[in-house]
Amino acid sequence: MKKIIPASWQEGNSMLLCPKCGKVAVSTKTEYGLRNHCSHCNMWSWGNNSPLVSKATHSARQGAHKSFDIIWESRFMTRADSYEWLAKSLGISSKDCHMKKMNFETANKVIQLCRFFSQIGKS
Ligand SMILES: [Zn+2]
Repeated sequence: MKKIIPASWQEGNSMLLCPKCGKVAVSTKTEYGLRNHCSHCNMWSWGNNSPLVSKATHSARQGAHKSFDIIWESRFMTRADSYEWLAKSLGISSKDCHMKKMNFETANKVIQLCRFFSQIGKS
């Protein structure tokens, strides 16, 4: 008898469950890497073992990335210094300071912090 194994196990992924409905996420290989998703809740994530998040969280993280890039690209600070500044401002350690780990609230905080900082830089 053939056993049906969720895709997430075959990839060396531990079983990913949808945080909303608790069902096993389906993982598919795409040209951008491994994508895990729950079709019931429209939540997804990228890469091994990363928890599924909603569309709102994905957009917030994207926005955080964009606002943050403006800071170090405009050379107020180096990229490393920018990360340190961001981690300090958020009150988290710099090793946890990655957009892909952030939840909706933290990502939005990053956007606000970076906007505020860019405005100081201009004046
Ligand atoms: Zn779900």
